[in-house]
Amino acid sequence: MELWYTEKHTSNLGITMKIKETLTKEKSVYQEMVILDTFEYGKLMLLDGLVMLTEKDEFVYHEMISHIPLYSHPNPKKVLIIGGGDGGTLREVCKHPSVEKAVLVEIDDMVIEGAKKYFPECAKGFESPKADVQVTDGIKYIEETEDRFDVIIVDSTDPIGPAEGLFHKKFYEMCKGVLTEDGILVAQGESPFISSMQRVVTSMNKDLEEVFPNVQRYLAFIPTYPSGMWSFVFASKKYNALSDFDKERCEKDSFDLKYYNAEIHQAAFALPNFVKELIK
Ligand code: SAM
Repeated sequence: MELWYTEKHTSNLGITMKIKETLTKEKSVYQEMVILDTFEYGKLMLLDGLVMLTEKDEFVYHEMISHIPLYSHPNPKKVLIIGGGDGGTLREVCKHPSVEKAVLVEIDDMVIEGAKKYFPECAKGFESPKADVQVTDGIKYIEETEDRFDVIIVDSTDPIGPAEGLFHKKFYEMCKGVLTEDGILVAQGESPFISSMQRVVTSMNKDLEEVFPNVQRYLAFIPTYPSGMWSFVFASKKYNALSDFDKERCEKDSFDLKYYNAEIHQAAFALPNFVKELIK
């Protein structure tokens, strides 16, 4: 008997994968986590039935959400990651020699433990001496922290459940207060191709533009995310992701990356007309 997992992206379309076995199925107060072993993409983590990451393509998301802001800031020392419980973003952030401290604030310990057990490649981020892992709500952390950060990365689930507040203008205003004078915020920004997500793409840009002087959207190709076309938003007080991109540092570092490079950094900000239309 063949076993297949299907995530419906719309009521008429989805992604389907043949699975070897179910490795775990657990529930926390926040969400349900299922980890499957698939034939094509290796291990797959689902939260509330939605693909969070697979072993085979996680590098795209994690490299693109991390290195774009870190090479746009001249000297990022303190980085805050909201969400990101699989550890992949932490792994990428900690590669930068300038980064002295990376605080990861994940609401759900179940995700961290699941990643440690089933996604060791991502979870090696947790082993870095620079990592400071806090299990609490990112909104509460931002409200209460007295720390200031050069870069904040919002590596969250979709804007439903515990992540909903991470997509509000009020949250962006609080982030601005926690950023240093020349700080940068990057957030995962949903798919501009999926009609039910287009509203979020538009409202994120609008809200961020009301809070930050510079807002730029960029794209990456992530095979297992809805439509494969994924977006991120770069919002900053001072730096422009293109004109302040430290190409020299980027080319000098040899992090052995699989997706991100200097050409991708620049090309990722070239937007198709329909995306420009959504955020104009
Ligand atoms: N790459 C993924 C994606 O876009 O599909 C994101 C994966 S990561 C596992 C998202 C994490 O954000 C989850 O582990 C979830 O528990 C966490 N999260 C959601 N809301 C949060 C909040 N308010 N504070 C902190 N973490 C939160």
